[in-house]
Amino acid sequence: MKKHHYNVVIVGGGISGTALMYTLAKYTDIKDIALFEKYSELSTLNSNAKGNSQTLHCGDIETNYTLEKAKITNRTASMVENYGLLYGYENIHMFKTPKMALGVGDEEVEFIKDRYEEFKDEFPYMEYWDKEALAQIEPALLKGRDENENIAAMGTNKRWSSVDFGEISKTFVHNAKMENPNCEVFLNKEVVDIKKIGDKFELSIDGEHFYADYVVVDAGAHSLLLAHRMGHGLDFSCLPVGGSFYYSKIDSLKSKVYTIQNPKLPFAAIHGDPDIVKGNIIRFGPTAIVLPKLERYHHAHFIDFLETLAPSTEVLEVFYDLMHDADIREYAIKNFLYEVPGIRKKLFAKEVRKIVPFMTEDDIEFAEGVGGLRPQVIDKKTKKLFLGEAKIETGEGIVFNMTPSPGATSCLGNAFTDTELICKHLNATFNVKKFNNELVT
Ligand SMILES: Cc1cc2nc3c(=O)[nH]c(=O)nc-3n(C[C@H](O)[C@H](O)[C@H](O)COP(=O)(O)OP(=O)(O)OC[C@H]3O[C@@H](n4cnc5c(N)ncnc54)[C@H](O)[C@@H]3O)c2cc1C
Repeated sequence: MKKHHYNVVIVGGGISGTALMYTLAKYTDIKDIALFEKYSELSTLNSNAKGNSQTLHCGDIETNYTLEKAKITNRTASMVENYGLLYGYENIHMFKTPKMALGVGDEEVEFIKDRYEEFKDEFPYMEYWDKEALAQIEPALLKGRDENENIAAMGTNKRWSSVDFGEISKTFVHNAKMENPNCEVFLNKEVVDIKKIGDKFELSIDGEHFYADYVVVDAGAHSLLLAHRMGHGLDFSCLPVGGSFYYSKIDSLKSKVYTIQNPKLPFAAIHGDPDIVKGNIIRFGPTAIVLPKLERYHHAHFIDFLETLAPSTEVLEVFYDLMHDADIREYAIKNFLYEVPGIRKKLFAKEVRKIVPFMTEDDIEFAEGVGGLRPQVIDKKTKKLFLGEAKIETGEGIVFNMTPSPGATSCLGNAFTDTELICKHLNATFNVKKFNNELVT
């Protein structure tokens, strides 16, 4: 018979919710854990391999990260790597695709040189590759390029850089159940309402009520919606930013090639790389476009979108400030045009040629139904766009996580933080030593 009370309930079966279930099952003495997912499978949205860039972001090639931020990201990325190694998922769900940050033109080449010097102690496996080295390592970068145009990159082929986060999330659930048979996953169960009743939470799901001592909401853009409905996170708004990809069947890149990022923009720079789940396809992207919905390919979320955007003068001020910046304005317009049928291929082909100069618009196609939605969070108090993940820790036994990029990479890092909070609240034991021994290097 179905239980109706759990020690911990997780809302959302993407990489964040499933990583938390695994961490609780393996490293704590918490007994009853349930996860509710509204669709019929785990990870059908942003954590699915077609929803994201499949990159384990270590901070070594992400040129908008400071060294300090890169150290943090590297730590959480290595948790995913170590998890994969622990269970033998090498070349099954994670791959050593060579990766690099590419500078094009003298100014960017200087930038790469300086960055390599700054980062090489923290990332000793990184190599500096000049034009001649790149001609050997990744010839597609040179073919068709003006011979006077200088290029250089910092890169490596030593890290597990590509991950199928959707498949990894399924392994989290499988391995959690092996550790703790009291872990239960309910599919096709949408949590529509959460109420605090005394020291417990009542979750309304499909006309039934379930109860929990602690709740973690890992529901993507819906996390803020559920938080607002409970009166939490009212200082935050959610700006959903879609990201599309273009496919090319032309034989070109063997590596993940990231371009240099404008530090004002919260999204990973355009890159090209081999798709790890679709053989012989090179993906270019993602674009970035604000969309009035909470899920990319499902409709009927406009009211929910308004509820999480919670328009106000502060939100308008953030938009005004963003659009006031010429770089951001140009970026927003360009990215909008990359979605417009008829002109988008021709315009986007210019971005692609920065990486692979011989590509024409006929060599690429818009990847329909590919690319997810990043729930970017606006902090109304500071009137700023958060440049990463956001957590609402209520202190009352419920946490809400909003996870734009690189949220998939940080899944175990976030799970660690939430597990600490949960164990403190429930007076449970978290075997941090075992977690660190197995997952942290
Ligand atoms: C274009 C793009 C590229 C990206 N590239 C990368 C990358 O290369 N590397 C990286 O680390 N990150 C990347 N990200 C970010 C990454 O995809 C996300 O951070 C990550 O997938 C978030 O996982 P999640 O489990 O928090 O959310 P999701 O994967 O969105 O899962 C949330 C789940 O909650 C469920 N749900 C929602 N509401 C309810 C409800 N009321 N009841 C029950 N279930 C509910 C949903 O159905 C869904 O399954 C990218 C994102 C985008 C959009």
